[in-house]
Amino acid sequence: MTDRLAGKVAVITGAGSGIGLATAVRFAAEGAKVVCADIDAVAGKAAAEQVGGTFVLVDVTDEEQVKALFQSAVDTYGGLHIAFNNAGISPPEDDSILTTGLEAWRRVQEVNLTSVYLCSKYAIEHMRAGGGGSIINTASFVAVMGSATSQISYTASKGGVLAMSRELAVEFAREGIRVNALCPGPVNTPLLQELFAKDPERAARRLVHIPMGRFGEASEIAAAVAFLASDDASFVTATTFMVDGGISSAYTTPL
Ligand code: NAD
Repeated sequence: MTDRLAGKVAVITGAGSGIGLATAVRFAAEGAKVVCADIDAVAGKAAAEQVGGTFVLVDVTDEEQVKALFQSAVDTYGGLHIAFNNAGISPPEDDSILTTGLEAWRRVQEVNLTSVYLCSKYAIEHMRAGGGGSIINTASFVAVMGSATSQISYTASKGGVLAMSRELAVEFAREGIRVNALCPGPVNTPLLQELFAKDPERAARRLVHIPMGRFGEASEIAAAVAFLASDDASFVTATTFMVDGGISSAYTTPL
């Protein structure tokens, strides 16, 4: 592992689990100081301990808490260079538009989209003061392709993350702030494993579309985030950064 992120301070939301946790581990291995933010205190604290960072309890939909999160990174480590705005949810109540109620729609928009607005807003304030930085906002492959197994609010929220990230990147490009939207493909998480065990046919329906023939691993997503966070990506901004095993480019897939 290189020291690409030595001297950098990173905030990760949703650091307690999945892609956020894998990225906290990867950032720390590359030398960054990591602030682990999560609404789950037990998981968030464990993540911070694992990577030798700090934990901040935060609900990413709460403006005051988000503001305090980024301030605490600066107060603790003297600056802010990387924001990985990654926390997100995909609850079962968010389904086809025919059955998804307004409450479920709004909750997903709050956690997946409004949170990225808030986190970007306060990260940018500190990055402008510090002369630049890298923001990575987690969208999804469903921001660029439609699914008949719909999660309507989730998909709309990720499309919003994509468009917002692009616009922020363009607005702040000359202030040394890069903003990229990360689009992971389906990742091998406990949730997916459960689906595989319970309903192999439903899982196979998803798997068949991926040229590589497998789901991604959280560590593979983390590797891409570390690249975007680092100076190796110094000319990379405003991208729709696909890390999806080729799913978004495939018509037919190998047998
Ligand atoms: P995960 O459920 O494993 O982890 C999400 C973390 O976010 C959890 O620790 C949770 O406690 C935290 N969180 C939830 N609501 C929060 C809130 N209001 N405030 C603060 N923290 C909160 O999820 P994951 O699979 O690692 O997904 C991470 C991101 O990647 C999400 O934005 C998700 O939409 C996106 N994504 C995931 C996949 C996939 O296949 N797993 C694919 C594409 C995109």
